[in-house]
Amino acid sequence: MLTSIADQLNDQLASLKAAHAANPMPSTAERIDRLKRLESALLAYEDRLVSAISDDFSYRAPGESRNFDVTGTIAAIRNTRRHVKKWSKPRPVPTALHLKPARAFIQPQPKGVVGVVSPWNFPIFLSIIPIAEAFGAGNRVMLKPSELTPRTSEVATEMLTKTFRSDEIQVVNGDASVGAAFVSLKFDHLIYTGSTSVGRKVAEAAARNLVPVTLELGGKCPLLIGEHADMKRAVERLVYSKYLNAGQICIAPDYVLVPRQKRNELVSAVRAKISEFYGDYATCPAYSAIINDGHVGRIERLIQGARDAGAEVIQSTSKSGTNARKISPTIVIEPPLDTALMKEEIFGPILPVLTYNSREEAQRIIAHNPDPLALYIFSNSSEETEYWVRHSKSGGVCVNETLFHVITDTLPFGGVGASGHGSYHGRAGFDEFSHLKSVFVQPKLNGMFLFNPPHGKFKHAVGRIFRKLV
Ligand code: NAD
Repeated sequence: MLTSIADQLNDQLASLKAAHAANPMPSTAERIDRLKRLESALLAYEDRLVSAISDDFSYRAPGESRNFDVTGTIAAIRNTRRHVKKWSKPRPVPTALHLKPARAFIQPQPKGVVGVVSPWNFPIFLSIIPIAEAFGAGNRVMLKPSELTPRTSEVATEMLTKTFRSDEIQVVNGDASVGAAFVSLKFDHLIYTGSTSVGRKVAEAAARNLVPVTLELGGKCPLLIGEHADMKRAVERLVYSKYLNAGQICIAPDYVLVPRQKRNELVSAVRAKISEFYGDYATCPAYSAIINDGHVGRIERLIQGARDAGAEVIQSTSKSGTNARKISPTIVIEPPLDTALMKEEIFGPILPVLTYNSREEAQRIIAHNPDPLALYIFSNSSEETEYWVRHSKSGGVCVNETLFHVITDTLPFGGVGASGHGSYHGRAGFDEFSHLKSVFVQPKLNGMFLFNPPHGKFKHAVGRIFRKLV
């Protein structure tokens, strides 16, 4: 008899849950061993993964895969390995005077089995880091990688299943229907990275089982060039982060906001930097392609929609390119806010340039879209940067930089509002995948009998003293 995908997934989850029940609090030595195996496996499979990612994208700049998917991931694994002993210790907390002499502490405890659903754009970084942090916190893991990177998922599946026992991790491959069945499982925690629209369905499915969920979603991340910005520096970081991975990054600057009188200076500097970085983009080995034809069509429609609405579109032409999935780095000048380009997350190599005359006007433009995952501020004035840090809402902020908060393991990484909730990376990830159990310890000699009935005059007097102490 054929078993349904839901039954298969339930069986896999049940076996991991049984393994967790048999060893619910793995020692730090066991956790460190898992993290060491994960790091060694990644290094051993590095070349195969880099080439599989490139095959999936039809071309992905190897430097990008090595720097982010491999080095960025190794850094996160090592950071967890170095700190897991400290993070997993009981954390004493003070008790108020009226509760003395009791003591209290927080005991981090593995949640059990963590489900990880990952997207295609950085397929290793976004699947292996959650695994590492879930392992660090002492959990077992079930992974569902993206079906849009089938070659990478195949190599990653081999890497994980050869490195770990089936009672440590299980990998489930499949399309959106498998994803839907996966997120309906009764995990002890679920982390989903992907689009906001699918994230909404994931949250609904998790809520049915009361599964706690971390949602790492997308949005339109603004890059704001302040009145006191160093334009040269801002343009270099803008071009780097907008066209890295051909713009297919959740925290890529989606559009740039520049003071109106500096627009032309910005556009010329961006054009010059694009040609310095990429030359003939179609043959440039540092310039990546788009994940599939569907996304090529989506990105081209965004450009055409802006053109139809009267915006100027600047693209370079390739003399010799043959890869139909490489789209020219594109600049769009002042697209109307009601175009799809300004309403949807771009996730491609298009830079809309918008202008503002006042901070309030810039705020109004940003407020056209839901809260972004990141916001970037370029300014040499501390008053101006502080203003934007305080008066904007986003998952994270970089000042005079882009992207790099994502690999700063001392910072929690996550969204706010429509760009997601919950966070991970470093200790934030350890805590997210742990149950932070509150423990209150009462010594033999204590004053709790004073609360017992009957409540006569003396106990009322004590109660009044208590009220002064609380
Ligand atoms: P996606 O939502 O299409 O797919 C992500 C994963 O969800 C895949 O594994 C897919 O199989 C699965 N899935 C698809 N439909 C599902 C369903 N109905 N139920 C359950 N699972 C389902 O996202 P994508 O196109 O792969 O990724 C791009 C999006 O992800 C962008 O919006 C980007 O901003 C966002 N993103 C966010 C982060 C972050 O850290 N916040 C990182 C990378 C990408």
